[in-house]
Amino acid sequence: MIVAMQENATEEQIDAVIEALSESGVDVHRTTGAMQTILAAVGPTAGLDITKFEVLPGVLNVHRISSPYKLAGRAFRPQGTVVEFPNGATIGGPRVAIIAGPCSIENRGQIVSIARCVKAAGGCFLRGGAFKPRTSPYAFQGLGIEGLKMMHDAARENGLAVVSEVMEISQIEAMLPYVDCFQVGARNMQNFNLLRELGQVRKPVLLKRGIAATIEELLMSSEYILSGGNYQVILCERGIRTYETSTRNTMDIAAVPVLKKLTHLPVVGDPSHGTGRRDMVAPMAKAALAAGADALLVEIHPNADKSVSDAAQTLYLDQFEKLVGELRVIAQAIGRSL
Ligand code: PEP
Ligand code: MN
Repeated sequence: MIVAMQENATEEQIDAVIEALSESGVDVHRTTGAMQTILAAVGPTAGLDITKFEVLPGVLNVHRISSPYKLAGRAFRPQGTVVEFPNGATIGGPRVAIIAGPCSIENRGQIVSIARCVKAAGGCFLRGGAFKPRTSPYAFQGLGIEGLKMMHDAARENGLAVVSEVMEISQIEAMLPYVDCFQVGARNMQNFNLLRELGQVRKPVLLKRGIAATIEELLMSSEYILSGGNYQVILCERGIRTYETSTRNTMDIAAVPVLKKLTHLPVVGDPSHGTGRRDMVAPMAKAALAAGADALLVEIHPNADKSVSDAAQTLYLDQFEKLVGELRVIAQAIGRSL
Protein backbone atom coordinates (compact mmCIF):
# COMPACT_ATOMS: atom_id res chain seq x y z
CA MET A 1 0.00 0.00 0.00
CA ILE A 2 1.34 3.45 -0.89
CA VAL A 3 0.48 6.54 1.15
CA ALA A 4 1.29 9.80 -0.61
CA MET A 5 1.53 12.77 1.77
CA GLN A 6 0.50 16.30 0.79
CA GLU A 7 3.32 18.66 -0.23
CA ASN A 8 2.84 20.75 2.89
CA ALA A 9 2.49 17.82 5.31
CA THR A 10 4.31 18.43 8.59
CA GLU A 11 6.77 16.04 10.25
CA GLU A 12 4.21 15.47 13.02
CA GLN A 13 1.59 14.45 10.49
CA ILE A 14 4.01 12.12 8.74
CA ASP A 15 5.02 10.55 12.05
CA ALA A 16 1.37 10.07 12.99
CA VAL A 17 0.68 8.23 9.73
CA ILE A 18 3.79 6.04 10.17
CA GLU A 19 2.59 5.21 13.68
CA ALA A 20 -0.92 4.35 12.49
CA LEU A 21 0.48 2.09 9.77
CA SER A 22 2.90 0.36 12.15
CA GLU A 23 0.08 -0.25 14.63
CA SER A 24 -1.75 -2.04 11.83
CA GLY A 25 1.09 -4.54 11.63
CA VAL A 26 2.83 -3.44 8.43
CA ASP A 27 6.43 -2.33 7.81
CA VAL A 28 6.74 1.25 6.68
CA HIS A 29 9.37 2.45 4.20
CA ARG A 30 9.70 6.22 3.93
CA THR A 31 10.88 8.10 0.87
CA THR A 32 11.30 11.83 1.20
CA GLY A 33 11.40 13.62 -2.13
CA ALA A 34 12.05 17.27 -2.87
CA MET A 35 8.32 18.00 -2.90
CA GLN A 36 6.55 15.17 -1.19
CA THR A 37 6.92 12.26 1.22
CA ILE A 38 5.81 8.78 0.16
CA LEU A 39 5.20 5.97 2.66
CA ALA A 40 5.21 2.39 1.39
CA ALA A 41 3.42 -0.08 3.67
CA VAL A 42 4.59 -3.66 3.20
CA GLY A 43 2.99 -6.67 4.88
CA PRO A 44 -0.52 -7.88 5.63
CA THR A 45 -2.48 -5.04 4.03
CA ALA A 46 -5.35 -7.16 2.64
CA GLY A 47 -7.69 -6.56 5.57
CA LEU A 48 -6.83 -2.86 5.97
CA ASP A 49 -9.44 -0.21 5.29
CA ILE A 50 -7.57 2.33 3.18
CA THR A 51 -10.04 5.11 4.02
CA LYS A 52 -8.82 4.96 7.62
CA PHE A 53 -5.47 6.33 6.35
CA GLU A 54 -6.93 8.59 3.67
CA VAL A 55 -8.65 10.72 6.33
CA LEU A 56 -5.54 11.29 8.45
CA PRO A 57 -4.28 14.89 8.43
CA GLY A 58 -1.63 15.56 5.77
CA VAL A 59 -2.48 12.54 3.59
CA LEU A 60 -3.04 13.22 -0.12
CA ASN A 61 -4.13 9.74 -1.22
CA VAL A 62 -3.67 6.03 -0.59
CA HIS A 63 -3.28 3.29 -3.20
CA ARG A 64 -3.32 -0.44 -2.93
CA ILE A 65 -0.61 -2.14 -4.92
CA SER A 66 -1.64 -5.69 -4.04
CA SER A 67 -5.17 -7.04 -4.31
CA PRO A 68 -7.32 -7.60 -1.22
CA TYR A 69 -8.44 -10.97 -2.64
CA LYS A 70 -5.51 -13.26 -1.99
CA LEU A 71 -6.99 -16.60 -3.04
CA ALA A 72 -9.00 -15.34 -6.01
CA GLY A 73 -6.12 -13.28 -7.42
CA ARG A 74 -4.49 -14.49 -10.63
CA ALA A 75 -1.12 -14.68 -8.85
CA PHE A 76 -2.42 -17.49 -6.62
CA ARG A 77 -2.72 -19.81 -9.64
CA PRO A 78 -1.26 -18.10 -12.70
CA GLN A 79 -2.09 -21.08 -14.92
CA GLY A 80 -5.85 -20.68 -14.24
CA THR A 81 -8.34 -22.95 -12.52
CA VAL A 82 -10.13 -25.70 -14.38
CA VAL A 83 -13.25 -26.91 -12.55
CA GLU A 84 -13.99 -30.57 -13.22
CA PHE A 85 -17.34 -32.35 -13.07
CA PRO A 86 -18.22 -36.03 -12.58
CA ASN A 87 -19.54 -36.34 -16.16
CA GLY A 88 -16.10 -35.40 -17.49
CA ALA A 89 -17.06 -31.81 -18.33
CA THR A 90 -14.76 -28.96 -17.40
CA ILE A 91 -15.10 -25.20 -17.06
CA GLY A 92 -11.94 -23.15 -17.47
CA GLY A 93 -10.04 -25.37 -19.89
CA PRO A 94 -9.71 -24.94 -23.65
CA ARG A 95 -13.20 -26.32 -24.23
CA VAL A 96 -16.02 -23.78 -23.92
CA ALA A 97 -18.89 -25.13 -21.82
CA ILE A 98 -22.57 -24.66 -22.59
CA ILE A 99 -24.85 -24.44 -19.57
CA ALA A 100 -28.49 -24.32 -20.60
CA GLY A 101 -31.95 -24.94 -19.28
CA PRO A 102 -35.18 -23.26 -18.28
CA CYS A 103 -35.30 -20.36 -15.87
CA SER A 104 -37.60 -22.56 -13.74
CA ILE A 105 -38.13 -26.30 -13.76
CA GLU A 106 -41.86 -26.59 -14.50
CA ASN A 107 -42.66 -30.27 -15.02
CA ARG A 108 -41.03 -33.54 -16.04
CA GLY A 109 -41.91 -33.29 -19.74
CA GLN A 110 -40.45 -29.81 -19.99
CA ILE A 111 -37.13 -30.65 -18.35
CA VAL A 112 -36.73 -33.94 -20.23
CA SER A 113 -37.18 -32.30 -23.63
CA ILE A 114 -34.75 -29.54 -22.67
CA ALA A 115 -32.15 -32.04 -21.41
CA ARG A 116 -32.27 -33.92 -24.71
CA CYS A 117 -31.85 -30.69 -26.64
CA VAL A 118 -28.85 -29.58 -24.53
CA LYS A 119 -27.22 -32.95 -25.02
CA ALA A 120 -27.89 -32.98 -28.78
CA ALA A 121 -26.42 -29.50 -29.15
CA GLY A 122 -23.20 -30.57 -27.40
CA GLY A 123 -23.86 -28.91 -24.05
CA CYS A 124 -22.65 -30.60 -20.85
CA PHE A 125 -24.70 -28.78 -18.19
CA LEU A 126 -28.42 -28.70 -17.49
CA ARG A 127 -29.41 -25.69 -15.45
CA GLY A 128 -32.81 -24.91 -14.01
CA GLY A 129 -34.21 -23.14 -11.00
CA ALA A 130 -36.01 -25.12 -8.31
CA PHE A 131 -35.81 -22.36 -5.70
CA LYS A 132 -36.51 -19.08 -7.48
CA PRO A 133 -35.64 -15.61 -6.19
CA ARG A 134 -38.62 -13.64 -7.52
CA THR A 135 -39.10 -9.91 -7.23
CA SER A 136 -42.76 -10.49 -6.33
CA PRO A 137 -43.75 -12.83 -3.51
CA TYR A 138 -46.88 -13.66 -5.54
CA ALA A 139 -44.90 -14.94 -8.55
CA PHE A 140 -44.07 -18.64 -9.04
CA GLN A 141 -41.43 -19.57 -6.47
CA GLY A 142 -40.22 -22.84 -7.99
CA LEU A 143 -41.00 -26.54 -7.51
CA GLY A 144 -38.37 -27.01 -4.80
CA ILE A 145 -36.69 -30.38 -4.24
CA GLU A 146 -39.32 -32.24 -6.29
CA GLY A 147 -38.37 -30.15 -9.31
CA LEU A 148 -34.70 -30.69 -8.64
CA LYS A 149 -35.23 -34.46 -8.62
CA MET A 150 -36.90 -34.22 -12.03
CA MET A 151 -33.97 -32.25 -13.40
CA HIS A 152 -31.46 -34.65 -11.86
CA ASP A 153 -33.17 -37.63 -13.56
CA ALA A 154 -33.31 -35.82 -16.91
CA ALA A 155 -29.65 -34.79 -16.65
CA ARG A 156 -28.40 -38.24 -15.72
CA GLU A 157 -30.28 -39.84 -18.62
CA ASN A 158 -28.33 -37.56 -20.92
CA GLY A 159 -24.94 -37.49 -19.20
CA LEU A 160 -25.33 -33.85 -18.19
CA ALA A 161 -24.16 -32.16 -14.99
CA VAL A 162 -26.77 -30.33 -12.90
CA VAL A 163 -26.60 -26.66 -11.93
CA SER A 164 -29.26 -25.08 -9.70
CA GLU A 165 -29.61 -22.06 -7.50
CA VAL A 166 -29.35 -22.27 -3.73
CA MET A 167 -30.99 -19.38 -1.88
CA GLU A 168 -30.31 -20.21 1.73
CA ILE A 169 -28.09 -22.32 3.95
CA SER A 170 -30.87 -24.72 4.93
CA GLN A 171 -31.28 -25.83 1.28
CA ILE A 172 -27.65 -26.92 0.82
CA GLU A 173 -27.94 -30.33 2.42
CA ALA A 174 -31.23 -31.19 0.73
CA MET A 175 -29.85 -30.17 -2.67
CA LEU A 176 -26.47 -31.91 -2.33
CA PRO A 177 -27.54 -35.32 -3.74
CA TYR A 178 -29.13 -33.72 -6.81
CA VAL A 179 -26.72 -31.01 -7.94
CA ASP A 180 -23.20 -31.00 -9.36
CA CYS A 181 -22.87 -27.24 -9.00
CA PHE A 182 -24.57 -24.74 -6.71
CA GLN A 183 -25.55 -21.46 -8.33
CA VAL A 184 -25.54 -18.36 -6.11
CA GLY A 185 -27.83 -15.80 -7.70
CA ALA A 186 -27.19 -12.11 -8.18
CA ARG A 187 -29.36 -11.23 -5.21
CA ASN A 188 -27.29 -13.39 -2.89
CA MET A 189 -23.83 -12.41 -4.09
CA GLN A 190 -23.22 -10.71 -0.77
CA ASN A 191 -25.07 -13.17 1.43
CA PHE A 192 -21.85 -13.81 3.30
CA ASN A 193 -23.25 -16.50 5.60
CA LEU A 194 -24.38 -18.52 2.58
CA LEU A 195 -21.02 -18.01 0.87
CA ARG A 196 -19.11 -19.16 3.97
CA GLU A 197 -21.23 -22.27 4.19
CA LEU A 198 -20.59 -23.04 0.50
CA GLY A 199 -16.90 -22.75 1.33
CA GLN A 200 -17.35 -25.92 3.39
CA VAL A 201 -19.02 -27.83 0.55
CA ARG A 202 -16.88 -29.89 -1.83
CA LYS A 203 -18.89 -29.17 -4.98
CA PRO A 204 -18.41 -26.33 -7.46
CA VAL A 205 -20.16 -23.01 -6.95
CA LEU A 206 -21.24 -20.70 -9.78
CA LEU A 207 -21.27 -17.21 -8.28
CA LYS A 208 -23.25 -14.56 -10.16
CA ARG A 209 -22.36 -10.90 -10.05
CA GLY A 210 -24.82 -8.78 -8.05
CA ILE A 211 -26.93 -6.28 -9.97
CA ALA A 212 -25.00 -3.36 -8.51
CA ALA A 213 -21.73 -5.06 -7.64
CA THR A 214 -18.29 -3.96 -8.74
CA ILE A 215 -15.84 -6.53 -10.05
CA GLU A 216 -13.83 -6.17 -6.86
CA GLU A 217 -16.93 -6.90 -4.77
CA LEU A 218 -17.58 -10.03 -6.86
CA LEU A 219 -14.02 -11.17 -6.27
CA MET A 220 -14.24 -10.47 -2.54
CA SER A 221 -17.42 -12.57 -2.42
CA SER A 222 -15.61 -15.44 -4.15
CA GLU A 223 -12.92 -15.10 -1.49
CA TYR A 224 -15.51 -16.09 1.15
CA ILE A 225 -15.99 -19.45 -0.61
CA LEU A 226 -12.31 -19.98 -1.40
CA SER A 227 -11.20 -19.19 2.15
CA GLY A 228 -13.36 -22.07 3.41
CA GLY A 229 -11.25 -24.44 1.30
CA ASN A 230 -13.63 -24.80 -1.66
CA TYR A 231 -11.51 -23.82 -4.65
CA GLN A 232 -14.09 -24.83 -7.25
CA VAL A 233 -15.59 -21.41 -7.87
CA ILE A 234 -16.85 -20.12 -11.23
CA LEU A 235 -17.76 -16.45 -11.70
CA CYS A 236 -20.65 -15.21 -13.82
CA GLU A 237 -21.26 -11.87 -15.53
CA ARG A 238 -25.05 -11.54 -15.83
CA GLY A 239 -25.54 -7.84 -16.43
CA ILE A 240 -25.63 -4.95 -14.01
CA ARG A 241 -28.14 -2.18 -13.41
CA THR A 242 -27.33 1.09 -15.15
CA TYR A 243 -29.35 4.08 -16.36
CA GLU A 244 -29.93 2.32 -19.70
CA THR A 245 -33.47 1.01 -20.18
CA SER A 246 -33.23 -0.64 -23.64
CA THR A 247 -32.25 -3.92 -22.02
CA ARG A 248 -33.26 -5.43 -18.67
CA ASN A 249 -29.66 -5.20 -17.47
CA THR A 250 -26.50 -3.86 -19.06
CA MET A 251 -24.30 -6.80 -19.91
CA ASP A 252 -20.79 -5.80 -18.96
CA ILE A 253 -18.81 -7.67 -21.61
CA ALA A 254 -15.63 -5.90 -20.51
CA ALA A 255 -16.00 -7.62 -17.14
CA VAL A 256 -14.99 -10.87 -18.89
CA PRO A 257 -11.44 -9.84 -19.90
CA VAL A 258 -11.08 -7.80 -16.70
CA LEU A 259 -11.87 -10.88 -14.62
CA LYS A 260 -9.64 -13.11 -16.76
CA LYS A 261 -6.79 -10.76 -15.96
CA LEU A 262 -7.49 -10.33 -12.24
CA THR A 263 -8.40 -13.87 -11.28
CA HIS A 264 -7.57 -17.50 -12.08
CA LEU A 265 -11.24 -18.48 -11.66
CA PRO A 266 -13.24 -19.44 -14.77
CA VAL A 267 -15.72 -16.88 -16.09
CA VAL A 268 -19.21 -17.53 -17.47
CA GLY A 269 -21.26 -15.13 -19.57
CA ASP A 270 -25.04 -15.08 -19.04
CA PRO A 271 -26.58 -13.19 -21.97
CA SER A 272 -30.11 -14.18 -20.93
CA HIS A 273 -30.21 -12.20 -17.70
CA GLY A 274 -27.60 -9.87 -19.18
CA THR A 275 -30.09 -8.52 -21.71
CA GLY A 276 -33.53 -9.79 -20.69
CA ARG A 277 -34.47 -9.98 -24.37
CA ARG A 278 -34.63 -13.04 -26.61
CA ASP A 279 -33.46 -11.08 -29.66
CA MET A 280 -30.30 -9.91 -27.87
CA VAL A 281 -29.22 -13.22 -26.36
CA ALA A 282 -27.36 -14.60 -29.41
CA PRO A 283 -25.30 -11.48 -30.18
CA MET A 284 -24.26 -11.08 -26.54
CA ALA A 285 -23.47 -14.78 -26.18
CA LYS A 286 -21.11 -14.47 -29.16
CA ALA A 287 -19.59 -11.30 -27.74
CA ALA A 288 -18.98 -12.94 -24.36
CA LEU A 289 -17.30 -15.91 -26.01
CA ALA A 290 -15.14 -13.70 -28.19
CA ALA A 291 -14.20 -11.70 -25.09
CA GLY A 292 -12.83 -14.81 -23.40
CA ALA A 293 -15.70 -16.41 -21.47
CA ASP A 294 -15.06 -20.04 -20.47
CA ALA A 295 -18.74 -20.95 -20.57
CA LEU A 296 -22.11 -19.54 -21.56
CA LEU A 297 -25.31 -19.79 -19.56
CA VAL A 298 -28.46 -19.62 -21.66
CA GLU A 299 -32.13 -19.95 -20.73
CA ILE A 300 -34.09 -22.19 -23.13
CA HIS A 301 -37.59 -23.68 -23.25
CA PRO A 302 -39.61 -25.63 -25.86
CA ASN A 303 -42.41 -23.10 -25.50
CA ALA A 304 -40.27 -20.09 -24.59
CA ASP A 305 -43.08 -17.56 -24.65
CA LYS A 306 -45.02 -19.58 -22.11
CA SER A 307 -42.13 -19.99 -19.63
CA VAL A 308 -43.40 -19.37 -16.10
CA SER A 309 -40.44 -17.07 -15.44
CA ASP A 310 -38.13 -14.97 -17.62
CA ALA A 311 -40.13 -15.79 -20.79
CA ALA A 312 -38.98 -12.70 -22.70
CA GLN A 313 -35.31 -13.69 -22.53
CA THR A 314 -35.77 -17.43 -23.07
CA LEU A 315 -34.69 -18.96 -26.38
CA TYR A 316 -36.72 -21.55 -28.27
CA LEU A 317 -34.87 -24.83 -28.69
CA ASP A 318 -34.20 -24.30 -32.41
CA GLN A 319 -32.78 -20.83 -31.68
CA PHE A 320 -30.48 -22.39 -29.10
CA GLU A 321 -29.28 -25.09 -31.53
CA LYS A 322 -28.53 -22.46 -34.14
CA LEU A 323 -26.69 -20.32 -31.57
CA VAL A 324 -24.46 -23.20 -30.45
CA GLY A 325 -23.51 -23.84 -34.09
CA GLU A 326 -22.45 -20.20 -34.45
CA LEU A 327 -20.59 -20.26 -31.14
CA ARG A 328 -18.65 -23.30 -32.35
CA VAL A 329 -17.29 -21.27 -35.27
CA ILE A 330 -16.21 -18.46 -32.94
CA ALA A 331 -14.63 -20.91 -30.49
CA GLN A 332 -12.55 -22.37 -33.29
CA ALA A 333 -11.51 -18.93 -34.49
CA ILE A 334 -10.08 -18.07 -31.07
CA GLY A 335 -8.29 -21.37 -30.57
CA ARG A 336 -10.86 -23.08 -28.37
CA SER A 337 -13.26 -25.93 -28.91
CA LEU A 338 -16.92 -26.40 -28.10
C1 PEP B 1 -31.44 -17.22 -12.80
O1 PEP B 1 -30.32 -17.64 -13.12
O2 PEP B 1 -32.50 -17.71 -13.20
C2 PEP B 1 -31.47 -16.01 -11.96
C3 PEP B 1 -32.47 -15.74 -11.15
O3 PEP B 1 -30.38 -15.26 -12.18
P1 PEP B 1 -29.83 -13.93 -11.48
O4 PEP B 1 -29.51 -14.34 -10.06
O5 PEP B 1 -28.63 -13.58 -12.28
O6 PEP B 1 -30.92 -12.90 -11.55
MN1 MN C 1 -33.97 -16.63 -15.03
